[in-house]
Amino acid sequence: MDLKKMEEGFRLILEGMGENIQREGLIDTPKRVAKMYAELMTGLSGELKEEDILKTQFHEKYDEMVYLKDIEFASMCEHHFLPFTGRAHIAYIPNDRIVGLSKLARAVEYYARFPQVQERMTCQIATLIQRELNPKGVAVLIEASHTCMTIRGIKKAGSLMVTTQLLGRFKSDEKTRAEFMATIHGSR
Ligand SMILES: [Zn+2]
Repeated sequence: MDLKKMEEGFRLILEGMGENIQREGLIDTPKRVAKMYAELMTGLSGELKEEDILKTQFHEKYDEMVYLKDIEFASMCEHHFLPFTGRAHIAYIPNDRIVGLSKLARAVEYYARFPQVQERMTCQIATLIQRELNPKGVAVLIEASHTCMTIRGIKKAGSLMVTTQLLGRFKSDEKTRAEFMATIHGSR
């Protein structure tokens, strides 16, 4: 990542706003903002490879649903570059192979660290699990609050956007899907 370029860019934004970039409070802000974006966008650094996230797998005969609920995340809306924050819920039905639950949380964290849209992030998490674990089904549901909607535009504080991606048995079998939804709602 080119921190200098990011720093210059943010200095231009402040100048464009008509701010005095020499005043005490702002003088180091472009540098801080550049570092902050580097931290928030680690996905772009390429340090972690997508295919390594779920690499550690275990053989297990268990073939009932596995859930991980309430995975908190913060990401950045690519249309406005404002954060959206919320929780992801993941379920899958193993097909001989399982992964540590922390690895599922890591998948959420990985995809959150890109300029994002919630719909794509939901789909990316489900696709990764499907591809790496080949389970009998995957369900991902994300609920998030978008600051580009709560602090600007129509200013609807408290509104939650919900996106789901259902694959395999969660898509084809109504009972499996209902069990997933009931588990999520049971957490309220
Ligand atoms: Zn937005």
